[in-house]
Amino acid sequence: MQHRVGVAVGARRTLDDARRLVRRDELGRDWAGAAASAATSPVGNNTANGTSTATSLPSGFVKGQLHAHTGRSGDSRTPPERVHAWYEARGYDFIVFTDHNVVTDTPDTALLTIPGVEITQNSRRCDPSPTGTDACLLHVNALFVDRPPGPLDLRPPSSGARVDIYRHGLALTEALGGVAMLNHPNMHYGADASTIVALAESKLVMMEVGNQAWDSRNDGDASHPSTEALWDHVLSRGHRVWATVTDDAHHYDDVAEARARGEDVFAGDLGFVAVRAAKEAAAIRRALERGDFYGATGVVFSRLELDAKRCVLEVSGDGDVRFEVISRGGKVVHEATGRALDYEPKQRDGGYVRFRVRDQRGRFAITQPVFL
Ligand SMILES: [Zn+2]
Ligand SMILES: [Zn+2]
Repeated sequence: MQHRVGVAVGARRTLDDARRLVRRDELGRDWAGAAASAATSPVGNNTANGTSTATSLPSGFVKGQLHAHTGRSGDSRTPPERVHAWYEARGYDFIVFTDHNVVTDTPDTALLTIPGVEITQNSRRCDPSPTGTDACLLHVNALFVDRPPGPLDLRPPSSGARVDIYRHGLALTEALGGVAMLNHPNMHYGADASTIVALAESKLVMMEVGNQAWDSRNDGDASHPSTEALWDHVLSRGHRVWATVTDDAHHYDDVAEARARGEDVFAGDLGFVAVRAAKEAAAIRRALERGDFYGATGVVFSRLELDAKRCVLEVSGDGDVRFEVISRGGKVVHEATGRALDYEPKQRDGGYVRFRVRDQRGRFAITQPVFL
């Protein structure tokens, strides 16, 4: 079932213009600097080593994709049915389609598909303009859109304020009955720390900390914090916003062809969420809203019990992993290597603890915080 959302006249041209701006900017010096820093950063872009996430989850968890484009986006050539089959073949339990400004859905098979839309507000100017860039690409995913939407008013608010444009995205998400996720905060540095705090005080439920598209700049650069640091900034103020890891894929079977054409490639099956829920849309939605899930690029937990008194984590598969316990301000308060971690949070940890786990192949998992 597919529903087209009304798009303001001229929006497509704005989108195309903005994408050209993206390419021009990202081939420039700024991006080279960000890529060079990625090797040392905890949560980077898995795209560099191209590792598939291929792992099965223990019972009780479902594997999902919260950011996927199809041919209905205008910047992907793969029909929705093929995207569906592609993720099903890779063992996903559910995906949410998130085409630009269009709600897409397909009939369920073994793969549960959930309608969503990437509310894509692109403009040349906003206030304040993100530093070091020349476009405002302010995107919010409306996930679990559960009823056919009416026309969406995608004209930016008259104030032109960046936070108002994002808030407009959240309001549209609510009007669609969806769950709001802030997308790729560091792509063109659309969302800075104060903007995300303002959105957290509004209707924001989740933010992409690990968008795996090559241009998401999760590691930031010399003048921009990483997406993880942005998230810790929000958590340190007591806001309950959950972190997601996603693909934002636009290419599937056509990765090699696109590369041969010299195009930028946005591949899939690089990052996912593992949700503690039955394979049923309402249950998955509830678990996402309460933060009962984690994001990963391949590290999977066979045991994950997070409580303010005691946290127990065990990983599936072989080989030791590195556990890091992170607290207020992104401070690493404990580290360990092995297959399991049993950690009792302490008041001096301050506010919350969360866990980051990295394996020897560079794949990671990040849990949601436990507030103390
Ligand atoms: Zn986007
Ligand atoms: Zn996208």
